[in-house]
Amino acid sequence: MTTQFDSSGLVLNRQAGDAPADNNKTILNSGTTDPNKILPMKYKWARAHYKTGVANNWVPEEVNMQKDVETWKSPTELTADERRLILWNMGFFSTAESLTANNLVLAVYKHITNPECRQYLLRQAYEEAVHTDTFIYSCDTLGLDPDEVYNMYLKIPSINAKDEFVVNMTKSVLDPGFTTEGTENIQKFVHDLIGFYVIMEGIFFYAGFVMMLSFLRQNKMVGIAEQFQFILRDESVHLAFGVDMINTIIDENPEIWTPDFQQVITDRIKQAVELESTYAEDCLPRGILGLQADSIKQYVKYIADRRLKKIRLKPLYNVDTPFPWMGEIIDLRKEKNFFETRVTEYQSGQLNWD
Ligand code: FE
Ligand code: MN
Repeated sequence: MTTQFDSSGLVLNRQAGDAPADNNKTILNSGTTDPNKILPMKYKWARAHYKTGVANNWVPEEVNMQKDVETWKSPTELTADERRLILWNMGFFSTAESLTANNLVLAVYKHITNPECRQYLLRQAYEEAVHTDTFIYSCDTLGLDPDEVYNMYLKIPSINAKDEFVVNMTKSVLDPGFTTEGTENIQKFVHDLIGFYVIMEGIFFYAGFVMMLSFLRQNKMVGIAEQFQFILRDESVHLAFGVDMINTIIDENPEIWTPDFQQVITDRIKQAVELESTYAEDCLPRGILGLQADSIKQYVKYIADRRLKKIRLKPLYNVDTPFPWMGEIIDLRKEKNFFETRVTEYQSGQLNWD
C-alpha cells in the first residue's frame, strides 16, 4: 500500500516501512510526495536557492540611518519631489511585502508539497518578514507617520492599482476549496505564481529599486537606499526560485502551456508594464536626480522582456536598459568596504542583478 496525501500534504494513511518517495514525483498533484521526507531530493535548484538565501542573511538594523535622519529632518536638503519619491516607494513596499508573504503562506505553501521547495518557501517567508521589518525600522528612524505610509496602498491610486492587480490574479487560488487537480486549475495556479513571482517581485518592485538606488548614486539618503539594495538582492533570488518552479510545473504539465494561456500571461505582463509606468509617472511627476519617468518606463519594458524570456515567452519591447549603472553600482558597493561589517560576506558570481 502506498502512502497517500491530501492536497495540503497531510499523510492520509501513513504506515511503517513506506518506500522512499519515487523519482517520478512531480511538484503538483504527486500522490507519492511525502512533505516530511526531504531526502532523497529531486529538485536541486530549490536547495541551491535556499543556500543562497542563507548566505545573504541580513537585518535592517545593520544599516546606519543617522545621516538619513539628518537629511530627512533638514528643511533644505531634499526637494519636495525627492520626498514624494521616497514616500511613494515606502507606501508601496511597506504593504507589498506583507501581501507577498501572505500569498506565499496562504496560497502557495498549501499546494506545493515537495519538501525541498517548501524549505525554500519557509526561507522566503522569513525574508519577507525581514523586509516588513525594514519598513518598520525605516518609519521609526525617519519619524514617518505610520498611518500615512500604511494607508497609501489604499489611498494612492497608482499604488492601489498594482496591489489590486496581483490580488485579482490570485483570487481563485485563495478559495478554500481550490485544488490543483486538472488542467484548468493548474493554469490558475501557475497564473497565481506568475502574478506574485514574475509580476509583483519581478516587475512591480523594479521601478522602485531603480529610483531608490539612484539616491545611492547621488550619495543621498544612503541608509534607506542600502535597505532597498539588500531587498533587491533577496528579491532577485525569490524571482529566480519562482521562475524555476513555474518552468518545472509547465514541463511536468505541458498540456497547460497552450497558445491561449501563453497569450493570457503575455497580456498580464503587458498590463503590468502599463501599471508600473503609471506608478513611475506618479512617483516622479517632474523628474529628479537626472531621473525622468520616461527612462524608468523604458527600464520597466527592458525588465519585462527579461522576465518574459525567463518563462520562455517572446519579448514584447526589445529596448535597451537606460540604466547600465544598475549593475555597476551594486558591484562597486560590493568591493568598497561600505557596510563596514558586511561586505566580505557578499557573494559574487551567482546572483543575477537586474
Ligand atoms: Fe520582499
Ligand atoms: Mn520577495
